[in-house]
Amino acid sequence: MKLAVEAPPLRTLTVAGRDEKFPVRRVFCVGRNYAAHAREMGKDPDREPPFFFMKPTNAVVDAARPTSVPYPPKTKDYHHEIELVVAIDKGGRDIPVSEALGHVYGYAVGLDTTRRDLQLEARDKGRPWEFGKSFAQSAPIGALHRAQEIGHPSSAAITLQVNGQARQSSDVDKLIWSVAECVACLSAYETLEPGDLIMTGTPEGVNAVVAGDLMRGAIAGLGEIEVRVEG
Ligand code: MN
Repeated sequence: MKLAVEAPPLRTLTVAGRDEKFPVRRVFCVGRNYAAHAREMGKDPDREPPFFFMKPTNAVVDAARPTSVPYPPKTKDYHHEIELVVAIDKGGRDIPVSEALGHVYGYAVGLDTTRRDLQLEARDKGRPWEFGKSFAQSAPIGALHRAQEIGHPSSAAITLQVNGQARQSSDVDKLIWSVAECVACLSAYETLEPGDLIMTGTPEGVNAVVAGDLMRGAIAGLGEIEVRVEG
């Protein structure tokens, strides 16, 4: 087949301890999935159904090794959000909660980096969040750990430090909507496909980083990521 322009590169994630990569199809993100973060964003953490937004595939950065990302354009408030990332290996639609974890390939530590000023301006004007959330290299993600090796973490410390100072510290047991519930809910709106990622939301403590800052995120059992902001 002759292509009119160069095809986009495949985005992949490292798989811990395996000589294979995980090809990324789409990136879904859950909004406000920890009560304390919903409150810090000025919202009521009632258990409303989860809501989702997306990042483009070129948001994904393989952060299995220490890496760096550019400070993005058109913002003065570039935030870190440390998150548990779920990788889907078996597609499906209308997946019941009881079967949802059977569709999960593995888990990783990831950052949903955010142009907070653009996000909040869009939110307050009733516009889409896209420019706040969906931009190149806005999702550095560490090595995937396969569920068949580590199981499905329901309780694990999740932390983020900037330049060695604690910024975010919580536990994935505080997710308002569990991984299984997120998979089930999302699959009612959109048929899940192998290669899809779900970023499950961030705990409280989100804040700005500037050029030169070093973000170090970790989830117990999933290792850590080290991402420097270029500048
Ligand atoms: Mn997020």
